[in-house]
Amino acid sequence: MHNADHSLLSLSLTTLVLFLLVSAQEDHQQDTPIARFQRYLRINTAHPNPDYSPAISFLKLQAQSIQLQARAIEFTPGKPVLLLTWPGSNPSLPSILLNSHLDSVPAEPSKWVHPPFSAVRSPDGKIFARGAQDDKCIAVQYLEAIRNLKAKNFVPIRTVHVSYVPDEEIGGVDGAAKFVASKVFEELRVGFALDEGQASPGDEFRVFYADRSPWSLVIKAEGTPGHGSRMYDNTAMENLMKSVEVISRFRGSRFDVVKAGVATNSEVISINPVYVKAGIPSPNVSGYNLCSSSLKIHLLIINGDEC
Ligand SMILES: [Zn+2]
Repeated sequence: MHNADHSLLSLSLTTLVLFLLVSAQEDHQQDTPIARFQRYLRINTAHPNPDYSPAISFLKLQAQSIQLQARAIEFTPGKPVLLLTWPGSNPSLPSILLNSHLDSVPAEPSKWVHPPFSAVRSPDGKIFARGAQDDKCIAVQYLEAIRNLKAKNFVPIRTVHVSYVPDEEIGGVDGAAKFVASKVFEELRVGFALDEGQASPGDEFRVFYADRSPWSLVIKAEGTPGHGSRMYDNTAMENLMKSVEVISRFRGSRFDVVKAGVATNSEVISINPVYVKAGIPSPNVSGYNLCSSSLKIHLLIINGDEC
């Protein structure tokens, strides 16, 4: 194991240990790690309208409080990447990059026990907020780990960069993709990167060296259109059903493996229909119903290459 890998390992372990320790002693009113975490969670960066600006301001303030260099870069207007830097004692070595994403998936408030951006902490220590686990906790763990190490006068050998990227939940096209293709990223000379992993309800943390690959697929079925009062061979629905049946069988076979406890969700290929669109919207009036000529189903397929 390389020296830098040792320091990275100790850094990531410190983040985990620190997070577990502070989670037992949060005081809502104080400027504690948990209180700072809650403040970050109260900033709504959920899709479809993530509010990145206050999130960047909050993280910049946190970075300033621990003397990290900070710069926000907009590769796409309104979609900033925040980059923090902690210079190492030997900046000629390749650097370490700690990444997390600013955005989260949408929340439906009516289905939540507590409002999704209230970051309420229950007496048993659970914090309720959209994005808490995926992955604002990681963003805050990076900062708190650095704060902790700096308080002990630790200086990393390699320069450590921390990046906060937008739009990860919708593919990262305007976020990480533009960032890694940029001159800015090239100049960081990243030798090792750490990103989000899998949540753990206990004290065990699995380390992954790869991530799953999503494949977004649209199946469009076409067929014979016609008046809704008659039936035809070769309709779009019949044609679409052939694909749906094959996909459902494959999905079932993978899901059975998970249900049997032989593999976890991340170890099999997941496949989920996410959106079905019918061809011709027509009012439900007798004599005006049309048999649609085309249907579309959107699927999200994620392979299980994590290990
Ligand atoms: Zn995530």
